[in-house]
Amino acid sequence: MPVQGVCDDISYQKLYLHIMRKLLFFLILLSGCQTEHSSSKIQVLKGATVFDGNGLSIENGTIIISDGVIKEIGGSGIAIPKKSELIDLNGKFITPGLIDSHIHFAQTGFFDGRPDFLDVRDTINFDDLQNDIKNNPESYYEAYLRSGVTGVYDVGGFHWSIDRQLEAENNLNAPHVAASGPFLSGVPEAYLDYLNTSEAKQMVYLASPEIGRKAVKNHTELGSTGIKIWGVFLQDANFMESLGAVADEAFQQGNKLIVHATQLNQAKAALNLGAKILVHSVDDFEVDDEFIQMAKSNDIIYQPTLIAPKGYLMAYTSLQHQIVMEDPNGVMDKRAKNLLKSTTKFRKFADSAFVAARIELFENLVSTRDSIVSINLRKMYDNGIKIAVGTDAGNPFTFHGISIYDEMEAMQDAGIPARDLIIMATKNGALAMDRLDDFGTLERGKLADLIILDKDPSRSISNMRSISHVMRGGKLRPVNKSFGNDS
Ligand SMILES: [Zn+2]
Repeated sequence: MPVQGVCDDISYQKLYLHIMRKLLFFLILLSGCQTEHSSSKIQVLKGATVFDGNGLSIENGTIIISDGVIKEIGGSGIAIPKKSELIDLNGKFITPGLIDSHIHFAQTGFFDGRPDFLDVRDTINFDDLQNDIKNNPESYYEAYLRSGVTGVYDVGGFHWSIDRQLEAENNLNAPHVAASGPFLSGVPEAYLDYLNTSEAKQMVYLASPEIGRKAVKNHTELGSTGIKIWGVFLQDANFMESLGAVADEAFQQGNKLIVHATQLNQAKAALNLGAKILVHSVDDFEVDDEFIQMAKSNDIIYQPTLIAPKGYLMAYTSLQHQIVMEDPNGVMDKRAKNLLKSTTKFRKFADSAFVAARIELFENLVSTRDSIVSINLRKMYDNGIKIAVGTDAGNPFTFHGISIYDEMEAMQDAGIPARDLIIMATKNGALAMDRLDDFGTLERGKLADLIILDKDPSRSISNMRSISHVMRGGKLRPVNKSFGNDS
């Protein structure tokens, strides 16, 4: 049975999460003080060209912010309240904070987080790594905020990723978080064990409809805002029956399906089941009219995640020689910085036939995939399908935070105009997170999440790299200064 309109039926659990968020937001407003970092003063950002995330731009804009919320936004005619802090941004550019709508907190940007691609667990213990990531979220949070990313969607990880939604919400040192929790997959248990710890699973084998229904209920009760399906195995009747049960249960629970489906027939099957977000691009054939019509009637969000295969190629190559990433503001997390300096310590793998084969495989994949995913992205765009920017950060050499620029540039190279990419990287990301009421565009009553740029991002999306400041919930700070000196 086709499952559609999953957002119409908000379950008790989702409602609870929604109310908790709203309550937090309300308490913040009541207290007149967002957190220990915020201030109750009125801030006025004046003189910049403002891109509001809805597709409009305002020359010589004025944004009035109080208690972390946008009170007024418009042109130079807006009256400036007395006793406000006036910040002159003449010649600068403002967009809403960026949203990376596809990340994985449990992954590191190297193979230690993906031992299924290169098993380095004898050097970096997977259980220890995962405990460290779970207990120390600050480093990734900072990497995101200082890249201008004020919201992230973790679409697959351990159960603790779900808790981060509330933990991060009123933490002005963190982006807003949405999370789906553990993946559901038809990949056999033995393979999934690469990605699970001795104590917890981030991947659940969808062995039966009952297991699927139970997982959806469990995830939703914990507050997940999405059910992530890892792979659509059309030839596996048992899996497809189980997936049908998952889709039905997700609909009943008011949750939504996020599906990794990279072949056209798989993606169509996902849409038949009511998927709301399709990730990773269709990369085997050009999308056809039937697919586009299905995508339209499901009102889906399409996340191309263009750069991840190149990341894998670089990661394997980095075993042979060190690779330097572009990070002028030094925002990368400490673990990634250290790993980048020491990838060649895994040299023992570099000369193996396995790695040589992987390099060849990804070289082929990158060259053949690029053209088809670009054509498909452009087709989806031309047909008015909603598209969101998602990097798949955490995968090898797709680093948390900074990867957002590469992804936007790859989308621009595929033919998406910069002006529309601003919308995809802001409003559409918030829409994917089900948070557009709160942020994603610059409008009166929304949270003051925005970035300040030296160069015009509508001329080239590469100009997003000219970011100088990020504001999250009214807290403004330069991106070239670490939070260690700041908070
Ligand atoms: Zn992913």
